[in-house]
Amino acid sequence: MKALSDRTAGFTDSVIRRMTRISNRYGAVNLSQGFPDFEPPAAILERLSEVSHEDFHQYSITWGAQNFREALAAKQAHYMGHPIDPDGEIVVTCGSTEAMMAAMMTVANPGDKVIVFSPFYENYGADTILAGAEPIYVPLQPPAFSFDPEVLEDAFRQGPKALILCNPSNPCGKVFTREELETIAYLAKKYDTYVITDEVYEHIVYAPYQHTYFASLPDMWERTISCSSLSKTYSITGWRLGYTIAPPKITERIKKVHDFLTVGAAAPLQEAVIPGLKFDQQYYDDLLEKYTHKKELFLKGLDDLQLAHTNPQGAYYVLLDISEFGYESDQEFCEVLAREVGVGAVPGSSFFREPVNHLIRMHFAKKDETLKEALKRLEQIRSKIPGKRI
Ligand code: GLN
Repeated sequence: MKALSDRTAGFTDSVIRRMTRISNRYGAVNLSQGFPDFEPPAAILERLSEVSHEDFHQYSITWGAQNFREALAAKQAHYMGHPIDPDGEIVVTCGSTEAMMAAMMTVANPGDKVIVFSPFYENYGADTILAGAEPIYVPLQPPAFSFDPEVLEDAFRQGPKALILCNPSNPCGKVFTREELETIAYLAKKYDTYVITDEVYEHIVYAPYQHTYFASLPDMWERTISCSSLSKTYSITGWRLGYTIAPPKITERIKKVHDFLTVGAAAPLQEAVIPGLKFDQQYYDDLLEKYTHKKELFLKGLDDLQLAHTNPQGAYYVLLDISEFGYESDQEFCEVLAREVGVGAVPGSSFFREPVNHLIRMHFAKKDETLKEALKRLEQIRSKIPGKRI
């Protein structure tokens, strides 16, 4: 038999999804793949049960149901501070995963370069490979995970077609300051580069930090593809509802890519989530209060256990420093952690371009009782993983 495609030959499993399977195998509290174990808002669930008896069982318009796009345009225009045409500037996708892929396929030719900050969400690597593009990694340096503008400009000098911006950032929890975004905007304009954003944590930004939509910066609307999803905002990661927002000329092309990739997102689910898109500010305030509480609960628990960790400005991930355990492989450490301690985490090496093996990622999008159970199990971490301690 002939060899399968070269392009995909180097693919490994998604480490995040693999860690979920490993957690399930060992009955670990799964703090690896970032998804909530609490219910979505009642208004959305009520509408979900109604729509099963209504006429939403066939394809919606390929780039998204009209009702959904209108509700989304109104909501995002409010938060992004820019008018959005629901017909010409939105494509509804199967999660932001498809949104990012469709954006990349729309922008990049094989051989084009794309700037990716490191650490980065693992899908971006696969997206660039599938698009035939080549990533240029620019490090975000801890503890603030800031970038060196000179290093960034060096990357721009290589003539990239696009830059990927995950803000708030998964996994490091960085929220880019307005000044940093303005530096990126200046360079994007100077070197005529598209910016593809991943803003799925746009409503999970802890005080005093604030989210700035990249597309809202002066002159950036025309060169930005804003990707996001409803997964995190409404606790519906399994519904796979994402979208791109971009000016008409770019959207026209994304529509075609999306149509051939997936035809469309699930029609009944687009209809069912509309009450959520119409929630007022109180909902987003409550969501943030809930995550602020969870962050405090979990981080205090880690402090009590004297486990060093990052303090995220946004999103719901924390990187823990496991240097003291002396493992050369953070993958092996995570497997031992799931098996012996009963807590699932993601090895940090899957997010970093640099050779990092002393960090693991956990998330706190879980019920308080789940987080407390994980913390209780982590009390045993030093007695159950003593082997290679240095
Ligand atoms: N964004 C989540 C994470 O980073 C889940 C990703 C996924 O599995 N689609 O864990």
